[in-house]
Amino acid sequence: MDKRDLVIIGGGPAGLSAGIYAARASIDTVLLERGVPGGLVISTHLIENYPGFSEGISGPDLMIQMENQARRFGVDISSANVQRIEIDERKFTLLTDHGGIETGAIILATGVQPQLLGVKGEKELIGRGVSYCATCDGAFFRGKKVAVVGGGDAAVEEAIFLTRFAEKVYIIHRRGELRATKIVQHRAFQNPKIEFIWHGVVDQILGTNSVEGINVRDVRDNSKSLLAVDGVFIYIGSTPNSFLLKEHVKTDDKGYIITDENMLTSQKGIYAAGDVRQKLLRQVVTAVADGAIAAVAAEKYLAEIIF
Ligand code: NAP
Repeated sequence: MDKRDLVIIGGGPAGLSAGIYAARASIDTVLLERGVPGGLVISTHLIENYPGFSEGISGPDLMIQMENQARRFGVDISSANVQRIEIDERKFTLLTDHGGIETGAIILATGVQPQLLGVKGEKELIGRGVSYCATCDGAFFRGKKVAVVGGGDAAVEEAIFLTRFAEKVYIIHRRGELRATKIVQHRAFQNPKIEFIWHGVVDQILGTNSVEGINVRDVRDNSKSLLAVDGVFIYIGSTPNSFLLKEHVKTDDKGYIITDENMLTSQKGIYAAGDVRQKLLRQVVTAVADGAIAAVAAEKYLAEIIF
């Protein structure tokens, strides 16, 4: 069994930042990532509010820089899917698809995953018109009509991005007012290719081999209409990837992990950083800060138990 002082789970901004701080503190660390490093940020075409990039930077570019920076300091990034965590006093054992790892401390930085709409046709048509990533799939809809579901920053920003390709982008929002930041709202309202469908919810996604349309219901009077679209992009929030720790640490009712200001969970030696924890603002800038704090807190904890 592999033995490490610290295991970081997740290679998004929080995990990579924790890795950089841990490596620079010479902690024997491994960062485990089940897919490619970068996290959900790599599906964002442009990040305009991460300080230091006055003209903005693309999600993939920012994450390649973070990964390169982590590797430059010697962060050991390994491909592994953690299946279970066992706790025995001050020792943690991680069971992964590549074997077991024993460690003294864990930083969970597993982020979130897109929330599904949960309507008929959604799962059946994923990859055939139903998408959760405009950056990945937007170019397939050149000259076509698409719908974006949701009214938060992700929905509105990605709808604006989709107007580069699509001839028409409908934003379907369940209320009469957007949740997105004002500057983002303003851009969408100015965009002639975007049409808002207010107080609307999608009841069904239609199509056999690919998306052909959606059934939209007006929540005010339950009237229904059929909207012909070739694609549906769903941005209705996210759910935390916290299942590994659910039985070990306190979470809120949505499953986000509760930490103190040093990223410590209710279990000594286990920290949570980034979108997976309960917090006010889920952005790259807060994720990297969480990662740095968690690594420094873990370093202090390890120094106490090892020496
Ligand atoms: P969000 O802010 O939670 O917004 C989710 C939106 O989906 C809300 O407008 C919500 O409606 C709607 N919604 C939720 N459940 C729904 C359902 N079952 N059916 C229909 N609509 C539903 O989520 P987000 O936009 O993914 O943003 C999450 C965080 O990332 C935020 O902190 C955001 O600022 C940040 N962020 C993301 C991006 C990005 O991904 N490109 C960019 C910038 C910032 P209500 O408004 O009625 O609740």
